[in-house]
Amino acid sequence: MPNSLSQPTDLIEVAVPLPVHDIFTYRVPQAFTGRIAVGIRVLVPFGRRRITGYVVGIGAPPPEATLKSILDVMDDMPLFPGCMLPFFQWVADYYIHPLGEVIQTALPSGINLAERVYFSLSNTGRHALSQAELNEPALRIRQRLEQGPCTKAAIQRRVGKTFLNTSFAEWERRAWVIKQHLMSGGRTRPKTLPFVHLGQPLDDDCRLSASRRKILDTLTQQGPMSVAELKSVVPTAANLVRAMAAAGQVEIKPRQVYRDPFGEPIVPDQAPSLSSEQVQAVVRMAPVLGQGYHTFLLFGVTGSGKTEIYLHMAHRSIAMGLPVIVLVPEIALISQTERAFRARFGDCVALLHSGLSDGERLDQWRRIQRGEVLIAIGARSAVFAPFEAIGLIVVDEEHDDAYKQEGALRYNARDLAVLRAQQQGAVALLGSATPSLQSAYNAQMGKFEKISLYERVDRQMLPQIQVEDLTTMHEVRAADRFLTATLIQSVQETLSRKEQVLIFLNRRGFANTLVCAACGQSVKCAHCDVGLTFHQGINAFQCHYCGFSRAAAARCTRCGSARINRLGIGTERLTDQLKARFPAACVARMDRDTTRRKGALLKILKALRDRRIDILVGTQMVAKGHDYPHITLVGIICADMSLNLPDFRAGERTFQILAQVAGRAGRGQSPGRVILQTYNPRHFSIVAARDQDFEAFYRQEMQFRRALGYPPVTRMIQLRISGRNKGRTADYARRMGDFGVRLQRQTAGFGDLTLLGPIEAPLHRIADRYRWQLLVKGGQVRTLHQYVRSLLFGPEGMAGTGDIAVAVDVDPVYLM
Ligand code: ADP
Ligand code: ZN
Ligand code: ZN
Repeated sequence: MPNSLSQPTDLIEVAVPLPVHDIFTYRVPQAFTGRIAVGIRVLVPFGRRRITGYVVGIGAPPPEATLKSILDVMDDMPLFPGCMLPFFQWVADYYIHPLGEVIQTALPSGINLAERVYFSLSNTGRHALSQAELNEPALRIRQRLEQGPCTKAAIQRRVGKTFLNTSFAEWERRAWVIKQHLMSGGRTRPKTLPFVHLGQPLDDDCRLSASRRKILDTLTQQGPMSVAELKSVVPTAANLVRAMAAAGQVEIKPRQVYRDPFGEPIVPDQAPSLSSEQVQAVVRMAPVLGQGYHTFLLFGVTGSGKTEIYLHMAHRSIAMGLPVIVLVPEIALISQTERAFRARFGDCVALLHSGLSDGERLDQWRRIQRGEVLIAIGARSAVFAPFEAIGLIVVDEEHDDAYKQEGALRYNARDLAVLRAQQQGAVALLGSATPSLQSAYNAQMGKFEKISLYERVDRQMLPQIQVEDLTTMHEVRAADRFLTATLIQSVQETLSRKEQVLIFLNRRGFANTLVCAACGQSVKCAHCDVGLTFHQGINAFQCHYCGFSRAAAARCTRCGSARINRLGIGTERLTDQLKARFPAACVARMDRDTTRRKGALLKILKALRDRRIDILVGTQMVAKGHDYPHITLVGIICADMSLNLPDFRAGERTFQILAQVAGRAGRGQSPGRVILQTYNPRHFSIVAARDQDFEAFYRQEMQFRRALGYPPVTRMIQLRISGRNKGRTADYARRMGDFGVRLQRQTAGFGDLTLLGPIEAPLHRIADRYRWQLLVKGGQVRTLHQYVRSLLFGPEGMAGTGDIAVAVDVDPVYLM
């Protein structure tokens, strides 16, 4: 199909961002034909509404019925290149999700918000209105429009209710005022710093003060420098250079600079010489760039310098003119990766992540689209970066669950990275110290090529891990059990060496087990089937699933007693305990509660980097690939927290998180030490994490997955049925299960699928919705898809009704 309307055809195909699985055909009135292309948004009549849709096809087949016409064209430039359409289509098919919603998910979220409709005077309008007899409010509107384009809201604000007395609608109809869709605000201005350059050459006999001489010498040797940098050479530089500029000895010019997310200027760096293992990896991977599709799994122990390999590969790719996408699991790491890439590549880097404002994100999107940058770095949605051609897609920490989106479109960005590479003939590079079982399995099956780094850069030792068996400490009260003598002593020693400590506890809040002291009733959420957690900071009991909270002074709902025991431990209580034990140390906490405000997370990380924090307590946020060389002790409090969840990936998740947290230790000159506390010292996930032995973990875990027929040896689709009425939801789920069984009997080919359930979900009520699940397993993903489609959209299909919703989760990550 052509990319734009050149033929006399006037029909287009439009995908709408609604839960409907069809594509709709519309007619394009003559006036718009020149402006239509794939990737343009159009305003269309839809039922009784008008909605925005995306042009996804041009030159549709002749219609059987009469067609409606589009009402307006919203963009002057497509929002994505036409070559991305097959990718979107694939995503829609694979995740069984409407194409229009897929496109909406892919586009930067600010796009609709940032856009406003502006009115301005046309030339005829300007003329006609200057002649016309206008009443008072109409006069004021004209005055406003003469000053430049403005929104209707601005007009209405100006004249209030009297707007109705004007003939504004008439002006519109006569095209005296014209509508324009403009992007409002958001443009971020480049940051500049004053830079000092050498001025006119001086006469030989010119006499200068020592400080002035020093400034000139420094500039001669090092080239232009910022005033701030000069100050570190000559403390009084700020005043001196002004005087010197006046005398023509130096020149001060603004220069664009890039700042790291901490607001500090980024100093350009040079690639270090690679370690021999790094060289081997690059030698293997680089020749494949630009030669078609290939996926590498870069399996490198923590601290083996994977980032440096990404930088090298990116350099090779952009040298060939092929853009690069770098995916990072979360914002805090984006900042670290951004810093590394900007230091190496300067301005040719765009960022895409949720920490940006809508306008900023749109700006970055357009820079990518216009080809102004060759590298895009971001969280999972950056997999949709609108490059036309692609050389390399890097997925850092590929095992991270954060790549899985749990919103409306449930996609996994790691899987999409591989797919996009496949479609665009690019190289996918997945890196991790603890690869996902899925990727390791793909490597074993020969789908991915595995490249291993066994050593840390500079041969630093991997940290020593010491396991403490918590089952031997039953006599100690639960909340005090975790600050063991060994841990306390190690913290003490580490602090006295002026090194830093990281304490990991994967549970936030103060106390997570709240029990009535009088009747034994546990304190539960009013809307979920979940216990509440006491948060001291806000003095309330809070639900971690729906956000419901109750004053901590509230009484037991069963017996009315005011005595509620606060048992168990979370990061908040642990932080308190550590502060009490080490009053001279600076103890900080990093979890969802302390990082909610924008910028708070970066602040903590900066303090950690500047060594203003001695002990950092945190949830899994601290486990992610941070590189802080002065952390030499890591304490893992109760490593089993995730082990006992009813989820077949519990062991994998536990292994990953423990091995990753442990990997934060000893990344600098001093060796690292890890104390790992557990109730299950012999569980293989914990033993493998202790030994930092991924291969051993992989062998054991694969045995278990094979025996039970779980992914990666099979594929799964989960259907989640939820509704507000307990009985009706259960009934619908059961009927769906019966239908599923019938469907399987009726259709040849569905026989070897396994249907599990319907069962009540482990968390069977969340936010007042009752939840059921139905799991389908099978060897062939194609068959799975066909089956689920018949189940949902076939003649007797059950895709939800009334307030009962059926959500589809292909390759589910969380089964709770
Ligand atoms: P990983 O992501 O594999 O855990 P990083 O990429 O964070 O490891 O690298 C660990 C540290 O080693 C970083 O501080 C990085 O700057 C440094 N590093 C990596 N490669 C080299 C090299 N070839 N020479 C010197 N230092 C390096
Ligand atoms: Zn009670
Ligand atoms: Zn709740």
